Amino acid sequence: MNADLHCHSSHSDGVLAPAALAARAAANGVELWALTDHDNLGGLAEARAQADALGLPFLDGVEISVTWEGTTVHIVGLGIDPAHLQLERGLAAVRSGRDVRALRMAEALEALGVREAYASAMRHAGNPSLVGRSHFARVLVEQGYATDVSAVFRDYLVRGRPGYIEHEWTALERAVDWIRGAGGVAVVAHPGRYRMSGEQMHRLFEQFSAAGGEAIEVISGSHGEAAVRTFARLAREFGFHASRASDFHAPGESPVDLGAGERLPDGLQPVWLMPRLQHRLHQPA
Ligand code: AMP
Ligand code: MN
Ligand code: MN
Ligand code: MN
Repeated sequence: MNADLHCHSSHSDGVLAPAALAARAAANGVELWALTDHDNLGGLAEARAQADALGLPFLDGVEISVTWEGTTVHIVGLGIDPAHLQLERGLAAVRSGRDVRALRMAEALEALGVREAYASAMRHAGNPSLVGRSHFARVLVEQGYATDVSAVFRDYLVRGRPGYIEHEWTALERAVDWIRGAGGVAVVAHPGRYRMSGEQMHRLFEQFSAAGGEAIEVISGSHGEAAVRTFARLAREFGFHASRASDFHAPGESPVDLGAGERLPDGLQPVWLMPRLQHRLHQPA
């Protein structure tokens, strides 16, 4: 099954509109698709309608920013009800700090010579309440500070680099609660991207499981072969279901296109076969 259960539209830090993403997913052979914009649900109606028109089964999704033991961790919610009030209010609270953070980021980048950093980032942000590091990264590429966004992140926008601003997102337990309250399944996004010791990763997975989390991404656009092996093993060890995700943001920018990753390794329980998600699936008539 070519399932791709994590990607971004212009409602967060992707560049394509939800309808264009749906068309790209269908053209790439995706058989089950979820849109998971950061901290907001604004693109779901358009994505769902276009998926339906194209005959593409669809799950409503979201990717929530969490701060856990001082590090940012992303929790994907799949099969959520986008009309759920507690989820929408929670996400509004998570979004509320982004603008002030962006102003501080702009100040730090302007001190390095970047011109009109805030206004320029806002021009890239399809959704002003979702301005984030990717929008600034695109500005720095435009102004010649680096050749691509991943180099901008490495040199400017990660902890320890001059354009990084510390930020406190929501708590792990809250994010999982909102997702479950809205009828969804909580998934740890791209675990291979976190700079954690094995011991800390175990603690994260224990707490995530205790909070009601049920799955982790095993295939991800940011996982190499070694990470796939590690997280396949940990999924079995913790009894987590396994997800498959490109984390696609933009043509020419994201390393893995929609639907283009490896298939799930054998012996894992695919998250999309969970009865609860089957129930939440939007199936074209
Ligand atoms: P923010 O939520 O504003 O802190 O931005 C996080 C986003 O930045 C992620 O969702 C990715 O889209 C992007 N990002 C983070 N690290 C990298 C990286 N090393 N290379 C490219 N994009 C990254
Ligand atoms: Mn992103
Ligand atoms: Mn993420
Ligand atoms: Mn993502």
